[in-house]
Amino acid sequence: MANTDYLYDMTSQLIAADTVSHHTSAPALESLANHLQGFGFEVQLQRWAEGSKANLIAVAGPEEPDGLVVSGHVDIVPFETQPGWTREPLRLAVEGDRLYGRGTTDMKGFLGQCLDAARQLDLDRLRRPLVFLFTSDEEIGCLGGERAARELPGLLGAVPMPRLAWIGEPTSWQVFHAHKGIAGFDVEARGEGGHSSRPEQGVNAIAVAARALVALGELQEQLRDEGSSAEMTSLFPGAPYATLNFGTIEGGSASNMIAEACRFTVSYRPLPDRDPLEVYERARAALAALEPRDWGAPARRGELVVSPPFLAPGLLSARGTALESVLFDELGVAEAGGAPYCTDGGHLAGAGIDCLISGPGDLDQAHQPDESLDRAAFEAGPDRILRVVERVVGAGAGA
Ligand SMILES: [Zn+2]
Repeated sequence: MANTDYLYDMTSQLIAADTVSHHTSAPALESLANHLQGFGFEVQLQRWAEGSKANLIAVAGPEEPDGLVVSGHVDIVPFETQPGWTREPLRLAVEGDRLYGRGTTDMKGFLGQCLDAARQLDLDRLRRPLVFLFTSDEEIGCLGGERAARELPGLLGAVPMPRLAWIGEPTSWQVFHAHKGIAGFDVEARGEGGHSSRPEQGVNAIAVAARALVALGELQEQLRDEGSSAEMTSLFPGAPYATLNFGTIEGGSASNMIAEACRFTVSYRPLPDRDPLEVYERARAALAALEPRDWGAPARRGELVVSPPFLAPGLLSARGTALESVLFDELGVAEAGGAPYCTDGGHLAGAGIDCLISGPGDLDQAHQPDESLDRAAFEAGPDRILRVVERVVGAGAGA
């Protein structure tokens, strides 16, 4: 097929698939698996959620050590409730020098490029394994990446675990070797309801939650004041410390009723050189030390219940790898830095794989309405992937 036809065709099929994280991803990955199998890859789908979700693992090359993983996620963030769209989110639109559609930047553009590169690869020339790893549920806590990292040795069979991974998240072709993790927990304040005219006979859970919010806000101040290493300061100059976010809050029934319950969610982004659960433990200790009282009922106590944490770990990969020197050379980049978001790389790093993040998508376009991608960066991708694969594991474009 001529030049960019396959690239546009594949990417437009990917954009058309509704792979919003809370929907299904399996059909899109089955289609990618069929293509990769046709190109000569050994493919496996790792399924969960009654088969509606999947990761795709496609392997080619000899059973040698030091292979390369090229990875991306197929799920996208929601668009139905996002204001600002002037185009059809699930239709790839080419206008001027940009491509539009949900996922063009984050990160179906890169997946389309991977497929187009795979189509052109001469697999017989691979000297070490090449693994395409396409995941689901990245946008809701890197859940697919966690599953893939845990089971990868078994899925690869006789192929030794690769030590290097390239994740094509949107970086405008900058190279990142580090990012913070993301973790979080829920807090439920429990009180005792009643008529608002008799506050001393109840415990207002919203008041208890307010004390908890203040305690967690003070923890944020401490984390900022404690400072961090020079490395973390250079990687995350805007906030070289763990940051906290209150995501949602709900509670109470009416303005003349004592609120019986109030729940809120907290997420935080731990530095990759620290124990990622340290902030959780400190938050729990701060809430346990708090008197869960309502100002209106000083003699009575409510209760604060903290959920177990979820965690997607941060990334702090080794510098100076073979993949780094090849990417620097191909991209004309001289330095690696810290990404402003979390990726599957934290889980892959936990499985002993050094990850670099670099892709064609525009950093400021991810998760935006009318998400778009620069056409030149898009069309340059397959050749770039072919050259990097050639130089790292030894296969180039076929004849
Ligand atoms: Zn992404």
